[in-house]
Amino acid sequence: MHIGIIGGGLMGVTLAYYLTQAGEQVTLLEQGPTLGGLNGALAFSDGLAVARYQHAILPNDRAVRKLCSELHIEQEFVMQDAYSGFVHRSKVYALSNISDFLAFPPLSMLDRVRLGRTILQARRRDWRGLDQVPVQKWLEDAGGKTIFNLIWQPLLEAKFDGEYAHIPATYIWAWINRMTSIRRLPQLKGRIGYLRRGHFSLIQALSEAVVKQGGTVKNPVRVREIDISGGRVQQVRTHTGAMQFDAVIAAIATPSFAHLIPGADASYLAQLSQSKYLGLICPVMVLDRPLTSYWTLNLTDPTSPFSTIIETVHPEHESYHIVYLPKYTSPDNDWMGVPDETIREAWLTHLKQLFPDFREEQIKHFAVSRSRYVEPVYATHSSANRLRVQTPYTGLFLANTAQVYPELPTSEATIIHAQQVARQIRSSLNGGSPAVE
Ligand SMILES: Cc1cc2nc3c(=O)[nH]c(=O)nc-3n(C[C@H](O)[C@H](O)[C@H](O)COP(=O)(O)OP(=O)(O)OC[C@H]3O[C@@H](n4cnc5c(N)ncnc54)[C@H](O)[C@@H]3O)c2cc1C
Repeated sequence: MHIGIIGGGLMGVTLAYYLTQAGEQVTLLEQGPTLGGLNGALAFSDGLAVARYQHAILPNDRAVRKLCSELHIEQEFVMQDAYSGFVHRSKVYALSNISDFLAFPPLSMLDRVRLGRTILQARRRDWRGLDQVPVQKWLEDAGGKTIFNLIWQPLLEAKFDGEYAHIPATYIWAWINRMTSIRRLPQLKGRIGYLRRGHFSLIQALSEAVVKQGGTVKNPVRVREIDISGGRVQQVRTHTGAMQFDAVIAAIATPSFAHLIPGADASYLAQLSQSKYLGLICPVMVLDRPLTSYWTLNLTDPTSPFSTIIETVHPEHESYHIVYLPKYTSPDNDWMGVPDETIREAWLTHLKQLFPDFREEQIKHFAVSRSRYVEPVYATHSSANRLRVQTPYTGLFLANTAQVYPELPTSEATIIHAQQVARQIRSSLNGGSPAVE
């Protein structure tokens, strides 16, 4: 059984790892010059490498930790204190522990109690009742309008590029549950983990294991079309020719997958077109000194071109500080086509207003990453409309983060999903249960 996997991001590489481990013959096709996708690395002219997007491993991310230990890269794992805060009306407020929270000036004492209650309510275990409720309604009912307007609205505006009317309350349930896992009683002080050389070291270790286990990794190979006729997958067309497989798994975002199957039934394409995504523009700077003393600062100012400031020390050069300034956008947002220089100017102008001591001379490197499809946007009633791994075509499967609902589309969720999908597909292809969810 020869299985072709399209996409060498974490999903595709992890699938290749589990399938080759189980003895399957696998060929992985990635369009980029390197593997990794969102977990890729940026290399600057002086050889300095940084993660394209910052990736943290939270204390509850057990699947990532287990995989790292299986691949013998657990020594790459580092834990550190994580200080968080808010930038509200151009002022930085710490929100790193319980005393910061109790002294958070933009909220009255009563609102702080309400905010604490909202967080406790969101941590309730059963998410099912939240799937049909819009996030704004749930947050206003739980904590009141003042907190919504001051805290949640700017965060949702920034995260969803203003389009959060149909986002279900499960989003906040998943987000709060994930973020509160970094805090430990009694002080609620935060700790996060990361891989010393970034998630790219996990991608590298996985792809080496795939090859060791008999798999083949081909890049850059861009798949241009998946030929489906007679109700089954026939072949995969790339820019260099056609390839035949017994089964094909598309480990790519749903809109990219839809483009590859023009021969699919109109009803299936219509179902795929319902799947919405967020894009991302993310400048990254390497500075010769710290910008802030925080791991993350969330901005509530709607005029800011970026929504968050994420800062880490460079793992191999401790005097270098890496600062990410992400902006989530709709995939067709005008900012996507704006030249890097214009983005640099707009972003730095705002940064200098927030940090008057910041000087451009402190920047060692500056780069802008853009991705059209970084995160699926779930709408209310998503649990009933989840895309299946088994497509309507024999031998053709789809595996992506749009299927991990109600969990957030994290690396942890990606690894768990890839493991389940590998098991289900093997069972279906080897004559077991045909019901791949
Ligand atoms: C800014 C940001 C921060 C994040 N932070 C965290 C974090 O802190 N912790 C965490 O756990 N998770 C985090 N995540 C989530 C994590 O990155 C994703 O869950 C994970 O990367 C999803 O991987 P993927 O393989 O599904 O997608 P991708 O990484 O997008 O991979 C898809 C791959 O398919 C390839 N491809 C597409 N079309 C074709 C084609 N036609 N032919 C061949 N190849 C093709 C692409 O080039 C790409 O390499 C973050 C994500 C982002 C964007």
